[in-house]
Amino acid sequence: MFVCDKCGECCRNLNLSPLYQQLDRGDGVCRYLSGNLCSIYETRPLLCRIDESYHIFFQDTISKEEYYSLNYKACDKIKQNH
Ligand code: SF4
Ligand code: SF4
Repeated sequence: MFVCDKCGECCRNLNLSPLYQQLDRGDGVCRYLSGNLCSIYETRPLLCRIDESYHIFFQDTISKEEYYSLNYKACDKIKQNH
């Protein structure tokens, strides 16, 4: 399972990807972010679910290890920039 430290940085930088446009309250921050946490966590969109997204979109193209590695790198990058 993907290990998230709940920093909330990905949910504060939705403007980095057009895929999250509908969640963006206008300044890159998700309309559902409360502090560092997701206020709709149990019903959050598939695009916010790293493990489930792997099975639906990526499992036929890359390994789980590679997928996690790419996600951890993206987390590190976003944390360094903000
Ligand atoms: S940036 Fe990464 S570690 Fe931080 S909340 Fe998002 S997924 Fe979790
Ligand atoms: S819905 Fe939740 S997990 Fe998805 S971007 Fe918004 S706050 Fe983050």
